[in-house]
Amino acid sequence: MPELPEVETIIRGLAPLLEGRRIAAIELRRDDLRRAFPPDLRQRLTGARVIRLGRRAKYGLIGTDRDDTLVFHLGMSGSWRIDPAATGPHDHVLIETDEGRRLVLNDPRRFGSLDLVATEALDQIPPFAGMGPEPLGPDFDKEYLERALDGRTASIKALLLDQRIVAGLGNIYVCDALHLARIAPARAGGRISLPRLDRLAAAVKSVLLAAIRAGGSTLRNYARPDGELGYFSAEWRVYGREGLPCPVCGEPIRRRVDSGRSTFFCRKCQR
Ligand SMILES: [Zn+2]
Repeated sequence: MPELPEVETIIRGLAPLLEGRRIAAIELRRDDLRRAFPPDLRQRLTGARVIRLGRRAKYGLIGTDRDDTLVFHLGMSGSWRIDPAATGPHDHVLIETDEGRRLVLNDPRRFGSLDLVATEALDQIPPFAGMGPEPLGPDFDKEYLERALDGRTASIKALLLDQRIVAGLGNIYVCDALHLARIAPARAGGRISLPRLDRLAAAVKSVLLAAIRAGGSTLRNYARPDGELGYFSAEWRVYGREGLPCPVCGEPIRRRVDSGRSTFFCRKCQR
C-alpha cells in the first residue's frame, strides 16, 4: 500500500509532466474504482490546465484552472505509469497532456479512488473534513501533540494512526517514529512529557523525510517510458524486522499483534 512518502514522491514525479499543461484527453475505461467516478469527470477535466499538484494525507491532488481538484488515492495496489508502450487490463484511467505525454492509472485490486472536487471546498469534504494536521507541516509540533493527546488513555501508537490527530501516518512510519523517539508503542498518549512529545514530533518528520529522500533517488526511473510511479522500499528501523538487532542497542526487535496489526519495537530502548 502506498504510504505518505510514496504519495509525495508520486506527486513530485507527476509535477514536471503536468504542471502548467492542458489536459488534452482523458479516457475512463470503467465507471469506478472503490466507488463510482463523478459522472462529469471527463467533461470537467478535458481542456483544463493543471495549475497545482499537492498532497493531503495519502491523497494526491491535481488542481486545475477551472477551480476543480482531482483527488486520487492509490488504495492497496495503485500506481501511475508514464508514457506506457502498451496498456493492459488494469489500466483504468488514461490522461493525455497537450504535449502528448500519457499518464495511466493502474490499479489491479481497485481499492483506489478518483474524485473531482471544487478546490475551495476541499477542506470541508470527506475525508479531509476533521482531519488532523499534516505531519510535515508547521502545525504538527509538541504543543499540538500535548493538546491533541491531553487526557487520552489509548496507546500512543493507536493515537498516531488516528487520522483526526495527524493525517496520513501508516503503521510503518508510526513504528519507526516511536522507536526513533524512544517511546513505547503501548504507552498512554496522555502520559508523555512535553520534551518527549517534542522528540516524537521531530521523529515523525525525520522518518518521513528520510523515506521521501529515498523515494526521490528513484525518481529518475519515472521519467523514462514505462516508468512506474508507486512503490519503493526503504530501510526501516524496526518495521518488519522482528528478531533482527535493534539499530541502537542490538537487542532483538519484538513484534506484537493487536487487532490484526503488527507493532515492531525494542523493549530496551522504548519506554
Ligand atoms: Zn534497542
